[in-house]
Amino acid sequence: MLNIIIFGAPGSGKGTQSEKLTKKYGLKHVSTGDMLRVEIEAGTEFGRIADSYISKGNLIPDEVMIDKLSELMEKRNGVKGFILDGFPRTIAQGEALDTMMYKHNEKVSIVISLEVEEEELINRILKRGENSGRSDDNRETVELRLKIYHEQTEPLKNFYIEQGKLVKVQGEGDIDEIFESITTIIDRLLI
Ligand code: AMP
Repeated sequence: MLNIIIFGAPGSGKGTQSEKLTKKYGLKHVSTGDMLRVEIEAGTEFGRIADSYISKGNLIPDEVMIDKLSELMEKRNGVKGFILDGFPRTIAQGEALDTMMYKHNEKVSIVISLEVEEEELINRILKRGENSGRSDDNRETVELRLKIYHEQTEPLKNFYIEQGKLVKVQGEGDIDEIFESITTIIDRLLI
């Protein structure tokens, strides 16, 4: 199986690139953010609790997200691999993912890290907020999201560098050119 993590700060383009990759390689796109937004829109109890974290810019507690991800990964009938978008976001989630993969005789194949400057991230998120309807795409929340990214999520870069799996990709510029850089890296894995 080809299991790809699309890693990056909020606004780095993880969702956009993941969708394109999903189509090209026929993998299963697992976006924890999208999954949470579906629950919020459906007005479920879980969605209400999740929104109380998300709208403030906080992360959902690790135990909850790890359980959700493991449920999603159980549904693997005929799946050629996963594109993970938005998970892991903490070292604890990264370790739990390794355990889950191991249990299924699988591993993370590669981690693509989309590199985007802070100012560009803020501009993109605020622009997206004009019509995304997302409760967290606003100026008050964005700074906390970036702070949490640096404190809790970014340490995963070293975690994957140590595993020899992290590849950095320039995440600014033309969407199709960024996509091409990513596919060149993935295609090398498939040879
Ligand atoms: P995203 O769409 O990936 O930017 O996720 C939106 C929000 O959902 C994040 O800011 C978090 O509040 C929450 N979220 C998504 N994925 C995770 C995760 N793996 N761990 C904790 N919180 C998450």
